[in-house]
Amino acid sequence: MAEVLRVEDLRVYYHTEAGPVKAVNGVSFALKPGERFGLVGESGSGKSTIALALLRLIRPPGRIEGGAIYLDGVNLVTLDEEEMRRLRLARISLVAQGAMNSLNPVKRIGEQIELALRDHGVQMSRIEFDRYVAELLQRVGLRPEVAKMFPHELSGGMKQRVCTAIAISLEPQVIVADEPTSALDVVVQWQVIDTLRRVQEELGAAVILIGHDMGLMAQTVDRIGVMYAGKLVEIAPTRELFREPLHPYTQLLIASLPSLDGKGELRGIPGLPPSLLNPPPGCPFHPRCPFVMERCRVEEPVLREVLPGHWVACHLH
Ligand code: SF4
Ligand code: MG
Repeated sequence: MAEVLRVEDLRVYYHTEAGPVKAVNGVSFALKPGERFGLVGESGSGKSTIALALLRLIRPPGRIEGGAIYLDGVNLVTLDEEEMRRLRLARISLVAQGAMNSLNPVKRIGEQIELALRDHGVQMSRIEFDRYVAELLQRVGLRPEVAKMFPHELSGGMKQRVCTAIAISLEPQVIVADEPTSALDVVVQWQVIDTLRRVQEELGAAVILIGHDMGLMAQTVDRIGVMYAGKLVEIAPTRELFREPLHPYTQLLIASLPSLDGKGELRGIPGLPPSLLNPPPGCPFHPRCPFVMERCRVEEPVLREVLPGHWVACHLH
């Protein structure tokens, strides 16, 4: 099937006095229409930077240094700001990390949704706006009366649904959701994920779900990409990744899961992620890898397709 999104060799650096921090360092992946793709990895592995880069929202001292992001064949990296502004929300949208806390506290929900739409050139009459906002709220499982409420009158789960409503408001082809459930309790997490899934399926939009909860990922996405130190080290269909993780880091991630009941979080992997300012030579995981070989210290493994649809960057494979 055709691809809706293709990321090629994406590089995003943050320029500091000590030198460039290579937050995303040569990441490639592609998404089919309607697909749900998960990005997992420890904090600081580059997941949120990828999310921002896909929307071209990287701010100085960060910069997209290289690579391409094709959305339906159009390279977003080379668009000017005005062209990019028109695609945001309409073709690719973001539920940013912590988005529910950045709702404007002094504006009613309906007004905020309407502003987001107006900001993207949508013109409707008063009645049409009200009707559309009510419909969007209903789509994410909220009552239309929520339009009249202020953010402080809503629970975390409800605010997250409002953010989802904004993200789907112009029916984009790709929705990027960065840790949409991280501040919520478990039951509410599942409700938010269910809602995201349902609206995504209705729209036929592809989703990139970013998170560190492997349990939630296991039951939500079709494929998973594992990030380590700004790189993708393994990509596989979700079931296969859990059944046969090939990268030692993925193996440790899965082994460190207390269970798959949705409470799984990454913990208990010995050692620390490497500095992205001075990454270790060779395989970035070698200082923590139980299988490290001489070669790993000098030669960086490339991401290779070792089984159909299953990619790994490791000298063992
Ligand atoms: Fe471990 Fe070497 Fe594979 Fe890196 S390349 S994950 S150090 S075995
Ligand atoms: Mg993050």
